[in-house]
Amino acid sequence: MSAENPTAPHRVTRLSVSVEKSGSAYVSVPFEVPKAATRFDLRYSYPKSDNCIIDLGLGDPDLTDFPSKQGLVGWSGGARSAVFIAMDDASPGYAPGLRPGTWQVLLGLYRLPDHPVTVEIEITFDPAPREEANRPARPKIASSGPGWYRGDLHCHTFHSDAKGSPERLHGTALREGLDFLAVTDHNTTTAHMAYFDRASSPDLIFVPGYEFTTAQGHGNIFGARTVEDFRAETDRDVAAMIARIQAKGYLFSVNHDKPNIPWNYPFPGADCMEVWHAPWLSGNHFCLERYQAKLSDGQRLTAIGGSDLHQPATDDSGNLATLARPCTFLYCNDLSVEGILDALRNGRSFVTEAPGGPRLLLSVGDTIHGGEIRSAPTIPLSYQTSGAAGDTLEVWDATGCICTTDLTSNSQSGVLPLTAAKGFVRGQIVANASRAALVAAGQAHVAAGKGGRLDWSQAWDKPALRALTSPIYVT
Ligand SMILES: [Zn+2]
Repeated sequence: MSAENPTAPHRVTRLSVSVEKSGSAYVSVPFEVPKAATRFDLRYSYPKSDNCIIDLGLGDPDLTDFPSKQGLVGWSGGARSAVFIAMDDASPGYAPGLRPGTWQVLLGLYRLPDHPVTVEIEITFDPAPREEANRPARPKIASSGPGWYRGDLHCHTFHSDAKGSPERLHGTALREGLDFLAVTDHNTTTAHMAYFDRASSPDLIFVPGYEFTTAQGHGNIFGARTVEDFRAETDRDVAAMIARIQAKGYLFSVNHDKPNIPWNYPFPGADCMEVWHAPWLSGNHFCLERYQAKLSDGQRLTAIGGSDLHQPATDDSGNLATLARPCTFLYCNDLSVEGILDALRNGRSFVTEAPGGPRLLLSVGDTIHGGEIRSAPTIPLSYQTSGAAGDTLEVWDATGCICTTDLTSNSQSGVLPLTAAKGFVRGQIVANASRAALVAAGQAHVAAGKGGRLDWSQAWDKPALRALTSPIYVT
């Protein structure tokens, strides 16, 4: 299976492996890293097509069978056909650092035709002297006191399948005036290691994390600086992986459970649900239906939003689907990674269409979103809205919509006496006066070919939301 070419300036290993549909979703191909190597360059090739997509990753000698506690060096999915690892550097998506021993090429069989497929792998080793990578410590940052802070919880850089750099994404976050940003590349945290861990400032906190990504579903992990083994193949594997993530103090969010990119595993004991993914009209009424059903079943889930921006290589201001569309507001005790995770864990959130979008706050006495109140024949629900004159406030419980109020001014508040609310109360602002403009903008976006692989077609006649809250739970 392997052959060496002793006459080449550097040692080369060539591997050829046949993969087919019937087996595991991941195949490991071992190779030896010689003692003298300080860098290797790997390229792989196969007959790539719409129905043949094979992802790439690497494991070092610590990697065991799933679930491996350590040893995942990196993952580039289908984004790169060549990667390198060196003592002092590595391709985006991969951690620097090299040591001799048996490594593994990880092939993710994302999509395969009915016949076997041959994958050719070539690895070139370089012995030139190199220093070990030395990463400065990340600064400890916490700023300002308790308050509502705004950010985005889902975006990508060229450390996975986006074109844009971490620096450019940082610039986009500054442009949008965000207080926090969770950067969630696919199955890798190297954007944090290489850049974001040291880029946080008192007024813009980068939250570590990544997007668990398989052909059956995506979910964000918030708080993690290392990737939990993602080679889950069964429903049980996924449930156990999520339990391991949560036991480490990280949070799990089910992402974009909507047509084309659904969550196909059983619904887990997640902390959050990305109820609003990319602009509302790109199929988010499906996510909301599923969210409402989970809440009605008694599950507690923080409602969050994520733009899923794949940062372009150039400035994308003015794009309807840029960063923070939608924008998530969190009530944090302070603006720090811990403060943000605590708000997410405890449901203190609302999601709005943009950083300057309508705001919606609900409370019962001192209890806000995510809190708990006792059931009572009448619940006095206070609301505060801004930026939604002409639209409608709806309040939902486990039985459905139980109250609507017309918003006649851009700054409206009041108290709604709710009768016999069941399970929870949550709010949403539904476009009314603003609806025609939202639909026209969405249709123009799709007509311009910017709709991506999202399904916009079923949303034109559905309610268009402008803001929504996590619930106040009624026990
Ligand atoms: Zn995704």
